[in-house]
Amino acid sequence: MGAGRFAPSPSGELHLGNLRTAILAWLFARSTGRDFLLRVEDLDRARAGAEEVQLRDLEAVGLSWDGIVERQTERTAGYDRALEQLRADGLLYECFCTRRDIADAPRAPHAAPGAYPGTCRDLTEGERARRRSERPAALRLRSAVDELTVADALAGDYTGVVDDFVIRRNDGVPAYNFAVVVDDDLQGIDQVVRGDDLLSSTPRQAHLAALLGAQLPGYAHVPLVLNPMGKRLAKRDGAVTLGDLSTGFAADGNQYDAVAPAAVRDVLLASLGLPAGPLEQALEVFEPAALPREPWIFDSPSTHWDSSTGTTPRHA
Ligand code: GLU
Repeated sequence: MGAGRFAPSPSGELHLGNLRTAILAWLFARSTGRDFLLRVEDLDRARAGAEEVQLRDLEAVGLSWDGIVERQTERTAGYDRALEQLRADGLLYECFCTRRDIADAPRAPHAAPGAYPGTCRDLTEGERARRRSERPAALRLRSAVDELTVADALAGDYTGVVDDFVIRRNDGVPAYNFAVVVDDDLQGIDQVVRGDDLLSSTPRQAHLAALLGAQLPGYAHVPLVLNPMGKRLAKRDGAVTLGDLSTGFAADGNQYDAVAPAAVRDVLLASLGLPAGPLEQALEVFEPAALPREPWIFDSPSTHWDSSTGTTPRHA
């Protein structure tokens, strides 16, 4: 039996988009008889107390998970081993570039936008020694390909850039693309369901998995929740977290009462074409092929929660 997972970054409260993706990851895992694991991606952007609130909110919408919650900061032995393997295979090189260096570097006319231009790939040992005294090095992967096609349950075959991406940042922290591949492998995760903002990173991750001899997971990248301007939903878009909604919110000149987590869950399920009620009921009719392939636009809480869903607007 394999496992699926949800891997939030504890940078703040989960918003409706994160909760919707978490519900989908749970539905994909449970509907295929997999375990469902939670991994807190706290190598970067961790805010004190955020993890606790995130776990509480996931439980409040009805998610359950297997085993203990893993934290990336407690998984360094796995990263060290994988890094040594790549080093021994001659697949790493030191990179001294700043962001500015990368932006200003000359590029071949056919170079993919956003790809590392290869500036430090072939430095001489003397040059490396000199640069080390100026700036700590990041470690990059010596990628063997420029692009790769991955199969995605929702997006179909997706071809994207594989460049010499960063494995370990120059502050010594394992880079996201590296940590996620090592963790998924060591945790036995064979199903990756996440927001489609990460689809473009997937060819890099799949290439790295192959180099590490890791099993390639099945991928399903789910459409995001957008605000009415078509931008990815964010906390600044207003009452978009369970915390905000549970204290009531102001909109259209009205003050609305608290929205319960179950009412939030039901609106998220409806946005996926799934029936209201406990997630176990949605599970019975869950069918990946029937999922919407377009982003869900979340306009304003007052469109979704009013007196008819147990939330009564009251005048401010
Ligand atoms: N931690 C990442 C995020 O919150 C997700 C990583 C993943 O699912 O691979 O965006």
